[in-house]
Amino acid sequence: MVKILITDEIHEEAVEILRKVGDVEIATNLSKEELKRKIEDVDVIVVRSGTKLTRDILEYAKKLKIIARAGVGVDNIDVEYATERGIIVVNSPDASSISVAELTMGLMLAAARNIPQATASLKRGEWDRKSFKGIELYGKTLGVIGLGRIGQQVVKRAKAFGMNIVGYDPYIPEEVARDLGVKLLDDLNELCKVSDIITLHVPLTPKTRHIIGKEQISLMKRNAIIVNCARGGLIDERALYEALKEGRIRAAALDVFEEEPPRNNPLLTLDNVIGTPHQGASTEEAQKSAGIIVAEQIVKILRGEPAENVVNLPAIPSEKIGKLKPYMELAEKLGLMAIQLLDRSIEKVELIYSGEIAGEDTEIVKRSFLKGMLSPILLAGVNLVNAPSVAKSRNIKVIEGTISESEYGNAIKVLAEGNSDKVSLVGSVVEGKPVLREIDGYKVDIKPEGIICIIRHIDRPGMIGKVGLLLGDHGINIAGMQVGRKEPGGESIMILKVDHVIPEEVLEKLKKLENIKDAKVIHL
Ligand code: NAD
Repeated sequence: MVKILITDEIHEEAVEILRKVGDVEIATNLSKEELKRKIEDVDVIVVRSGTKLTRDILEYAKKLKIIARAGVGVDNIDVEYATERGIIVVNSPDASSISVAELTMGLMLAAARNIPQATASLKRGEWDRKSFKGIELYGKTLGVIGLGRIGQQVVKRAKAFGMNIVGYDPYIPEEVARDLGVKLLDDLNELCKVSDIITLHVPLTPKTRHIIGKEQISLMKRNAIIVNCARGGLIDERALYEALKEGRIRAAALDVFEEEPPRNNPLLTLDNVIGTPHQGASTEEAQKSAGIIVAEQIVKILRGEPAENVVNLPAIPSEKIGKLKPYMELAEKLGLMAIQLLDRSIEKVELIYSGEIAGEDTEIVKRSFLKGMLSPILLAGVNLVNAPSVAKSRNIKVIEGTISESEYGNAIKVLAEGNSDKVSLVGSVVEGKPVLREIDGYKVDIKPEGIICIIRHIDRPGMIGKVGLLLGDHGINIAGMQVGRKEPGGESIMILKVDHVIPEEVLEKLKKLENIKDAKVIHL
């Protein structure tokens, strides 16, 4: 009989499903040593975020075939090592979307009608019918930032309340927004100006950190309500505090905070702030469904049937991966660059292979590219298995081709097109390592790693000095630099490797320097 070990609490119904297919042992709060002992002879292990399945633990597993994570993030699991060992990893990425969307609606209504404040007053023995006058959601404009899984569920519910919906998500195709009945805006500031209620549903990335800052808050209506059930760092809490304290916006409803649990957070001293302690996914149903989804995945895999939520691809023979690995790495870096450079939804991608890779089965290389391209904009969950279907759901067309020769030898050329812009990149593999060779036809020679700043400018004397001075003034060290130009005095490209993240305001100053046309920071 199959041995199944459950090391974090999961729903009883999920346990029942597993009991039908195996011998189940539930052992929570295990020490590292106990876990190493227990994992030795089990076939399946089921965890939530509490159990860390690092390499030193997995090395003890002699028979393990499946690791199941009830929930989304797999950061507590060494997926790469599991893949190497042929262990399948499954998760349940979609289990909490409805719960988070419902909490968003709950907080929206609670803030609009001052429900928590009125409840507290009632319990103090008061009967105050004047202080808590609210506003209706009906007819108001809801600004949804991020139209992924949760954002879309919020849209559906808000429509039932008769709200007009505008959205900001540069990476979602217009047809998807149109089908949802959302007016897609190109500019986040515009959304801030026109919305009565603003709700955030984007992942926290270097790009989305403080996506709602002082400037955005200053544009909001006096009666605006901000709801955040996504991640704390998305809002500049200091700017939010000032605006709420001075009554420049109406209210904020927060499930998440920059520091959790919040310690001496001044926001919590304000009457016009309501909130919950990161409760978005804390429902019976979300937890039940996270457990049931992974239990069903386990049953399917044990029966040899295809499962939808597999995170890794252990089925590919490792000798094959070995040869393709540098190309997978290169393709993933090119994907990361393409989306960050275009910074819009990508509609069509062409991947052209040359050299030794042209003669190989490139499916896994294509998947690596898509994973790189989608991961900066989506929450944990894009992996080598689901990348093609996620791309399909976002209407991204992928074409592959080969050319017999390239001046760079073993290379991949990428042409990525959005609806109004495009980018071309060439990368090659040199001694097993990826090297970036061209950006939009400009020749370069850089290792695609760390943080790079790409500046488009007119080739004039002194440009490098001006840029260096500005960054230096803001304490940003330049670790390396290259300039690419097609002709003297024409448009050129400057690529800087920097040691620190360039803050948005410094980037804006950079863009305003004479002869600079654009500047972007890329995380690789
Ligand atoms: P998702 O990956 O399905 O969707 C994210 C969307 O954000 C995508 O459509 C993407 O194109 C868009 N996006 C990315 N960068 C953007 C940018 N710079 N500007 C505008 N849009 C951008 O994610 P999801 O499952 O819908 O989760 C949304 C958020 O909810 C995440 O922050 C997640 O951590 C959070 N979350 C919170 C709880 C909770 O307990 N409160 C639970 C689950 C998820």
